[in-house]
Amino acid sequence: QSPVEASDASLTPAMRQYAAAKRLHPDALLFFRMGDFYELFFEDATIASRELQIQLTSRDRERSVPMCGVPYHAAEGYLARLLRKGYRIAICEQMEDPKLTKKIVRREVTRVLTPGTAIDSGLSAEQNNFLASLYLDEGVAAIALLDLSTGEFRTTEFTGAAAIEQAVDELTKTKPAELLYEAAHPLFNDAASAESLKALAGIRTKTAIDAYAFTAEYAIPLLERQLGTHSLDGFGLTGHGAAAIAAGAVLHYVRNTQQSELGHIDSIRFYERSECLQLDQVTVRNLELVDTLFSDGSAQATLFHALDCCCTPMGKRLLRSSLLRPLADRGEILRRYDAVESLCAELIIREKLRSALDGILDLERLLGRISLETAKPRDLLALAVSLRKLPTLRGALEGLTADLWRSNLDRLDALEDVQSRVESTIVAEPPVTLADGGVIQHGVHAELDELRAISHSGRESIAAIEQRERTRTGIQSLKVRFNSVFGYYIEITKSQLGNVPDDYQRKQTLVNAERFTTPELKDFESRILTAHERCIEIEKQLAEELRQFVLAAGGRIRKSGAAIAEIDLLTNFAHLAALRNYTRPSIEDRCVLEVIGGRHPVVECMMEDAGEGRFVANDLYLDASRDAGGPAILLVTGPNMGGKSTYLRQAALLVILAQLGCFVPARSLRFGIVDRIYTRIGASDNLARGRSTFMVEMTETATILNTATERSLILLDEMGRGTATFDGLSLAWAALEHLHAKIGARTLFATHYHELTLLADQLPRLKNVRVGVKETPQGIVFLHAIEAGPASKSYGIEVARLAGLPASVLQRARMVLKQHERSERHNVAVETEAPLQMTMFTPLSQTIVDRLESTDIDTLTPLQALNLLEQLKAEI
Ligand code: ADP
Repeated sequence: QSPVEASDASLTPAMRQYAAAKRLHPDALLFFRMGDFYELFFEDATIASRELQIQLTSRDRERSVPMCGVPYHAAEGYLARLLRKGYRIAICEQMEDPKLTKKIVRREVTRVLTPGTAIDSGLSAEQNNFLASLYLDEGVAAIALLDLSTGEFRTTEFTGAAAIEQAVDELTKTKPAELLYEAAHPLFNDAASAESLKALAGIRTKTAIDAYAFTAEYAIPLLERQLGTHSLDGFGLTGHGAAAIAAGAVLHYVRNTQQSELGHIDSIRFYERSECLQLDQVTVRNLELVDTLFSDGSAQATLFHALDCCCTPMGKRLLRSSLLRPLADRGEILRRYDAVESLCAELIIREKLRSALDGILDLERLLGRISLETAKPRDLLALAVSLRKLPTLRGALEGLTADLWRSNLDRLDALEDVQSRVESTIVAEPPVTLADGGVIQHGVHAELDELRAISHSGRESIAAIEQRERTRTGIQSLKVRFNSVFGYYIEITKSQLGNVPDDYQRKQTLVNAERFTTPELKDFESRILTAHERCIEIEKQLAEELRQFVLAAGGRIRKSGAAIAEIDLLTNFAHLAALRNYTRPSIEDRCVLEVIGGRHPVVECMMEDAGEGRFVANDLYLDASRDAGGPAILLVTGPNMGGKSTYLRQAALLVILAQLGCFVPARSLRFGIVDRIYTRIGASDNLARGRSTFMVEMTETATILNTATERSLILLDEMGRGTATFDGLSLAWAALEHLHAKIGARTLFATHYHELTLLADQLPRLKNVRVGVKETPQGIVFLHAIEAGPASKSYGIEVARLAGLPASVLQRARMVLKQHERSERHNVAVETEAPLQMTMFTPLSQTIVDRLESTDIDTLTPLQALNLLEQLKAEI
């Protein structure tokens, strides 16, 4: 029986405390401090022992209460691991010193740790750790995202019929560590929204919070107080009440769980999705921007990994988050090109910048920790050491004239005052905590120096006492020692007890020795201990003053942090451009996408790393402007493994790079800004969501057909594969017609339905291209080059041979194929006028075909012909 249900009378006093704490935090793992350990009981113990691989024991044998524990001084690592796995944790501390009380010590929950509010050093440096909230109201859905570890705070809202879906998509894309919502809200329990909300299943920790936190009356003033303003207009929140409420609810939760100041959260940003190139969650996944499709550990296969040569954690995080939200504003993109171009040409400045950036630690996270926790001396020092690099960084920037370099130079505060104050206060190699002192330098505080001298000379006196007493008593093994329970004592081994003078007072008896004290020693002890305690007190106070001083500069530190992130990002882009021969794209008003000699940024890198030869560069030309003569849709055919998918993804990745403001792996790229990239690629495994592959595919296709604009870029790979061939072909056919007639977006459509290539005859803006193959006596060779025209035939069996299918199976497949082709040849009436005749897909019985083929019509009499006709009809 769990103590939460048991009547209090039946429990031991400690278990009664445990039950009370657990009742207040039923959904958290309760870490219950007992002496030097945090103990977990019951269900919590079972979970923790499984997740942390620690021994499960039992508190008392008969009742077999499962229990496990971790030492308190090593708890941080265990806590971080549980948070990463999505658990909430309540820390129940002893509020009194057990030595000082006869009764059971008072215990209280002092902290609640949740995945979304984690700030520990175990967080991935490359990723934000977002706490999100979702607020729904009639016709509007708002989300807020706060990274407590860095102070990044943003919010947005969606309106209209698809509001919930869009909000959910934005959330799943951002992958928050924890999501807050109002459980009782009718919209969360409404059948219509339930379907959209299902997609949130991937967010592990969802926390229901009280309804009042999601009201304008409560949440908005809370937000205003935190930001220190009377109005939220300055943050772009005018007219976006729902977004402000979502943000207020996040703050409410953080305040309740943290019980500390949140000084570093001093601003918030309202953003609109349309400000950036929209990439929905499906596309982010399909294009493997930040994660690979398959969790086989091949992290190198992501675009992020291929591009990331950033030197700082801030730069890495900015790159990663920018990949999910590239720019859509021409001016902004051009400013980045200018910055990249100017640095690309300046090898020396580039290297100076990179070496100045290298080794700058995570200012944002350090500031977060300094703000939320008691200042750990090493965090403060790490901050200062990083700041010491800023003047060099500023110096390196002086040589650059492009707009963005100048504005970042302006933003970059070298913070010399903070750096010098920290470095002149804290010793060079401080201990981990403030508990034992030794953190503050000599010369900072006169009284501290004095007291230290006393405690130091005290220690010397102790040594002198030891020496003197040895001489006086003649006991050479006499020792003067210290421990935290008994203080200073004289230890004498049993064999020497006869020589102990009368003025020694017995303190403690051990197996082999006795411990004594003297009035003189007691006096020393109290002087030294008082001095020592006072020292620690002063040190703590000085450290706190220093912390407050640093926090007062928090805004400046954050601003510098943001500048460093952008400098690092742009330096990274210039580095890539120079190193990998990336070129500057040019932006046009037309909806054009022209690539000459384009390469796939990720595949190219991976081939280079593996020494697998060269990536074959390809061209691409699409123009979806209304008046354009050029093709808006490319239909890509060719054998599997020929390079169709690579070609499609490459087009999207080049656009993403270009809209990040990065140069691109191509001889040249000319493009019109893209508003959104849609992808429908392969048969993605979505069984976890309980929908069939085909259903998922059609839902994704529906989204594309319903929402794409002429400024979008659409990739459709193997559409229609999830169903019977003829259904699939018909759907793909109809979708292409719709894209051509109604949407006119830049579209790449890869398929191995050869029949679709016939569409080029009817749809003037659709063009066939194929991946090149060379047929050799040994089999086919993939050229990976894109050529004009439809693929001449299917190479499925050839590809299967490369894959090592047994020869007998291949031979049989060839026979079946021949029969099939023969039957099709006879039945597929290629209709060029009617778009598509469904009859062309109805296979006739092979026997009928064979009978007809073997009939010589010239020798038939009319009666025989009629009879044959009747027989054949009977066979259908
Ligand atoms: P498909 O979609 O036609 O089945 P993929 O795009 O998956 O083919 O490509 C098959 C293989 O060929 C991949 O391993 C890819 O790395 C390689 N490949 C594709 N395009 C090129 C290219 N342009 N140069 C070199 N290798 C390529």
